[in-house]
Amino acid sequence: LTPAERVERWTTSTCQFCATGCGLQIGTTAGEPVMVRGNPDHPVNQGLLCQKSLHQAEVVRAEGRLGDPQLRDADGELSAVGWDRAFDELVGRLRAVIDEHGPQAVAIYNTGQLLQEEFYTLSKLARGAIKTPNLDGNPRLCMASAVTGYQRSFGSDGPPNAYADLAETDLVYLTGANLHEAHPILGGRLMARLQEGGCKLIVADPRAVQFTRLADLYLPIRPGTDVALLNAMQHVVIRDGLVDRAYLDAHTTGYDEVAALVADWTPQRAAEVCGVPAADIETAGRWFGEANATTSLWTMGINQQTQGVAAVNQMCNLHLMTGQVGRPGAGPFSLTGQPSSMDFRQAGGGGSLPGYRSLAKPEHRQQIADAWGIELEDLPEAPVAAHRIWEGIEAGDIRFLWVIGTNPAVTFPDTRWATEVLRNVETLVVQDVFETETTELADLVLPAAMWGEKAGTFTNSERRVNVLRQAVQPYGRARSDFDIFVEVGRRLGFAEMFPFATTEDAFDEFKALTEGRPCDLRGITYDRLEAEHGLQWPVPDTASPGTPRLYTEGRFNTEDGRAVLHAMDYVPPLEAPDASYPFWLNTGRVQEHWHTMTKTGRMPSVLKRSPENYVEVNPDDARRLGIRSGDRVRLRSRRGQMEVPARVTAKVAPGSLFVPMHFGPKFGSRPVNDLTGRFFDELSFQPALKHTAAALELL
Ligand code: SF4
Repeated sequence: LTPAERVERWTTSTCQFCATGCGLQIGTTAGEPVMVRGNPDHPVNQGLLCQKSLHQAEVVRAEGRLGDPQLRDADGELSAVGWDRAFDELVGRLRAVIDEHGPQAVAIYNTGQLLQEEFYTLSKLARGAIKTPNLDGNPRLCMASAVTGYQRSFGSDGPPNAYADLAETDLVYLTGANLHEAHPILGGRLMARLQEGGCKLIVADPRAVQFTRLADLYLPIRPGTDVALLNAMQHVVIRDGLVDRAYLDAHTTGYDEVAALVADWTPQRAAEVCGVPAADIETAGRWFGEANATTSLWTMGINQQTQGVAAVNQMCNLHLMTGQVGRPGAGPFSLTGQPSSMDFRQAGGGGSLPGYRSLAKPEHRQQIADAWGIELEDLPEAPVAAHRIWEGIEAGDIRFLWVIGTNPAVTFPDTRWATEVLRNVETLVVQDVFETETTELADLVLPAAMWGEKAGTFTNSERRVNVLRQAVQPYGRARSDFDIFVEVGRRLGFAEMFPFATTEDAFDEFKALTEGRPCDLRGITYDRLEAEHGLQWPVPDTASPGTPRLYTEGRFNTEDGRAVLHAMDYVPPLEAPDASYPFWLNTGRVQEHWHTMTKTGRMPSVLKRSPENYVEVNPDDARRLGIRSGDRVRLRSRRGQMEVPARVTAKVAPGSLFVPMHFGPKFGSRPVNDLTGRFFDELSFQPALKHTAAALELL
């Protein structure tokens, strides 16, 4: 029998990799996962799946799964304990730290991969029960600049577009996004539009990604110069009279300041900064201004730089000054990385309160305090960014760190420093589904149920809430993150705050709190999500079909309803190549892998296609240094070094290098983040992982 013929039951779910949010079904036999297939009726992927998704069934029971809680004993060894002992230990140590040092000595660092309901429950636990200000997660490393950018331009977070806009756009501005590798199904939708001749494509990227070959115009910009390029494009739009004055007057503020700033950003001036011919910048600006409907697509290449927010705001400026927001085929579309980073953002998993409420707004804090029955003073007035948590541990102010579903020993910038900090925290609890470089450092390891073993919702990049039904029982004695949070809350003495029997109970409580908020979910039930293949928020009532596009009336979520154009000048990256470190080192993704390969490294079908780390080197640099493909080379930065085989390719420009971000010691390589630095966007506190000064030598 083929695997499909052996399947006894198909269960509705959503892909666990990437925020494209493809609908799928998990096939099981005798309670075990056998295969995965795309849901042909799901509007996101219409039955298609990319390679990591197709092979997901391989990983659910793979070697290295954590099946028992583990506690570090007096000899320094981790050994299995029961859940009772694990909870006693966790709650006992939490209480001791809070009693002696206060709740600000506790920190929780989570992920963009929990279920929406788990984020809401965790938010309640962290803010309402533990009362710590220190709650953040790895979305800080990937989406924080987009979040802050949207908030500043439109008054609230949340991409305004729908994937369906790709079928209606006449120009795509693709920048800092490698769709073919990181969002393959979405890449296929763009490919289809290009093949039917429906739109032009501009690609602005320092690296020649796959879509560069299909571009009508390629702008190979120097790393970290997007703001200069975007200011010059605005200059061209204004100079050539392509501004939509009626839209600006009716729906925006801030245009005059922007016009004054970009008056000096001629294409010639930007060309010197960006390394792109002035004529091409002219063309890009004109095409943008003349288009009826432009969609801008971006992800980490824009967000992970010291001017990430400024770049997002300049893209929003371009859309606003040409009236290309809230119309079919038009708008600035930030592609989210992780499957539930949107839920982290909207359900309060990090620096915000549930329902996109801001810690900085007293009325928002009051609404949550009232709903949860806590004191207003229990809620902090400002978020604490991830790197501040690490600095707090280093300073001795934070003594208890709970890491959930992420592997900072591979992903945090300046990893050697970050790992040393983890070694030194008084108590490190790590909750995950597999053994990782971070679980190895833990005092207490909590085994979590994974995708397929639990039920809940994910929200994708186009604000579509999708449902995941439970297909199989958790591995060993693993428990869902939701169960763990509820149990800890109850054992801390807050049973009344955690009355939930199921994740849908938590969803119902959360959705009631979204009334009047941009992410209104009140019309959603799990059954509707399954029957209608997800719904795009806002969904204010059960009759609502969802909302594919935001701001269609030109009314934004600011106090006065107007979008804000921001004048922001170009500032060079904080670290740039010099005589000692002459290369730009860029990091990114490959299609086969997901994050630190915790899962994909255990999927034989994809691992064999991408088994080892590498560095891409331009042929000119390779010739000069005597490097051929396959030679082992050493990369160095001011913070660390690594040895990998070289791949000589013109994908990277002369003077540039590229290394995937996935590989760590468990998969045969030092993490590339040993080399990246602690440089941050000053508005979003997102690290600038895309541009590091590095040296390269043949071994
Ligand atoms: Fe999964 Fe993303 Fe691939 Fe879709 S594009 S199948 S969500 S990894």
